[in-house]
Amino acid sequence: MSDKPATSWKATVLTLFPAMFPGALGMSLLGKALDKELWSLEVRDIRGHGLGKHRTVDDTPAGGGPGMVMRADVAAAAIDAVERVGRPLIYLTPRGVPLTQARVKALAEGPGAVLLCGRFEGLDERVIAARNVEEVSIGDFVLAGGEIAAQALIEATVRLLPGVLGDAASPAEESFSVGLLEYPQFTRPQSFEGRDIPQVLTNGNHREITKWRHAEAERLTRVRRPDLWTLYEKDKG
Ligand code: SAM
Repeated sequence: MSDKPATSWKATVLTLFPAMFPGALGMSLLGKALDKELWSLEVRDIRGHGLGKHRTVDDTPAGGGPGMVMRADVAAAAIDAVERVGRPLIYLTPRGVPLTQARVKALAEGPGAVLLCGRFEGLDERVIAARNVEEVSIGDFVLAGGEIAAQALIEATVRLLPGVLGDAASPAEESFSVGLLEYPQFTRPQSFEGRDIPQVLTNGNHREITKWRHAEAERLTRVRRPDLWTLYEKDKG
């Protein structure tokens, strides 16, 4: 009998910089899970679909303006060469829908994802419409390319796959999983530069500990993330 898992979550990355992969994804628990084939990574060079002797992938923006734009025909050829079999096609872009833990969880429950990494000023709009591309942002800031964003999305997703974290952590209580930020964590030593671990965490009363952690999670969310707090309160009814 094979000791390989029956199913393997698969990420395909379309990029102009294949050497950036696996990058951070090859380290620590994710790297070990990659070796164990709990997930797989396929990296494809968009340049392979470039045009002419110079394998050109970009051109000047229609209507003028700074920078270059990735050509629709080149991006479409790179996309069409991938066997997607039920996997969503995601373009990482600051204009996209912000990535959330809920979307990450849904991705982890599926067969994988195909991730298109932009460069330059971005991607010709027509290929986004023509290939029904989902646009996802990892935050309200602008990176130089989609590769780090793709790695962030893959890392957040793969760590939720069965067997990847082992006993190292429980995603169930983490920030965002119940609509709140996580409560503060402490470990030894008992006293650090005059600051002690809150007494409630050291008395072994699990009911009190759970109550304190929940109150802290609510307090932090209310203060730091009013947007999440409003949603949480609405959900509570
Ligand atoms: N001109 C684009 C704009 O203003 O929206 C920014 C292009 S950025 C310099 C180049 C590429 O980096 C994008 O095509 C995208 O793939 C990636 N990128 C940059 N910021 C990102 C973010 N916050 N989330 C996801 N991808 C991002």
